[in-house]
Amino acid sequence: MASNAARKAGRHFLQIPGPTPVPDRILRAMDMPTIDHRGPDFQKLGKRVLEGMKGIFRTASPVIIYPASGTGAWEAALANVLSPGDRVLMFETGHFATLWKNMAGKLGLEAEFIASDWRTGADPQAIEARLREDKAHAIKAVCVVHNETSTGCVSPIAAIRKAMDAAKHPALLMVDTISSLASIDYRHDEWGVDVTVSGSQKGLMLPPGLSFNALSDKALAAAKASKMPKLFWSWEDQLPHNARGFFPYTPGTNLLYGLAEAIDMLHEEGLENVFARHDRHAEATRRAVTAWGLEILCRNPADYSPSLTAVLLPEGLNADDFREVALNSFDISLGTGLGKVTGRVFRIGHLGDTNDLTILGALAGVEMALGLARIPHNKGGVQTAMDFLSRRAAA
Ligand SMILES: *Cc1c(COP(=O)(O)O)cnc(C)c1O
Repeated sequence: MASNAARKAGRHFLQIPGPTPVPDRILRAMDMPTIDHRGPDFQKLGKRVLEGMKGIFRTASPVIIYPASGTGAWEAALANVLSPGDRVLMFETGHFATLWKNMAGKLGLEAEFIASDWRTGADPQAIEARLREDKAHAIKAVCVVHNETSTGCVSPIAAIRKAMDAAKHPALLMVDTISSLASIDYRHDEWGVDVTVSGSQKGLMLPPGLSFNALSDKALAAAKASKMPKLFWSWEDQLPHNARGFFPYTPGTNLLYGLAEAIDMLHEEGLENVFARHDRHAEATRRAVTAWGLEILCRNPADYSPSLTAVLLPEGLNADDFREVALNSFDISLGTGLGKVTGRVFRIGHLGDTNDLTILGALAGVEMALGLARIPHNKGGVQTAMDFLSRRAAA
């Protein structure tokens, strides 16, 4: 390691919207010998996490677990149910929707975007109108990012399902919940989602390296007809092994130990309480941002994200310069602006293993850094957040 002068005391504030800080309990659960992934001990672990993830997605259907980042699970969702040349309809919520759409194009699909300004969630009415036009049912799937991590806007998935039903359109509904699962209420079965994509390193509090597809019967039927080439991602290769608690190739064994622990922790707290905690920290953060006199990127309050808040800086100021001041002065990592909003926004992550004092510490770091970086703002954002949190704690 570097000289003593480089040592930073205390915990780094990883306040980006994923990866999120990994709780000690999960680190300890992963600190285990890697075992034979074809042996009986593994089988118990495999069954536990494959079954356990159904409860997190709120589905009775199978959940596939990949040793891959979220991008892999995006590819898996497209590759398992579609065929080359198929049309998919996507909504331009922000950078992650754009990446998923570009991926679809590179995989040989016809990806169509409903354009938007990166400041709201997806609009169910626009999706319904486009589907009504598609009388020949050329659109095979509608793909939506539930929580757009580049903007801090949430899309109304249940309403999008209703819009698709109202249009009487048979397209599959595929949803990216990489930064919403285990942070924001999500119901795979109840909302009629066909493929839900997720990842380990955000609400699930794990290190990066696992990702997921939750399925439906309709998605499984589509998989039988799919002509996209695949092997690593193939559900049909996974499912017979998964039924016995195993995987067709070497799984991320130690991450799966961590996943089993994370599932237990989420249930010990109660998923409803986990969601309420995220809502509360998001509200505290927004109150601080508003008190500073800065603008929240998401312009529709109904779409505000419980996972993160993207803060727009006044024209002419560089948000990455501000982030650098915050990092160098207070050892806090804030999320960078992505794609179209690079340099214009910074993002405060408030998802995963966060409590009142963590979020207040993070907001204090932001407020002090705003001063040091000479960003025009009002003082008192942290005080406003404290007032909100202490009122709610007493209730
Ligand atoms: C983080 C994220 C991704 C990308 O996942 P990787 O694990 O970096 O591949 C995709 N979509 C959303 C909404 C995300 O937040």
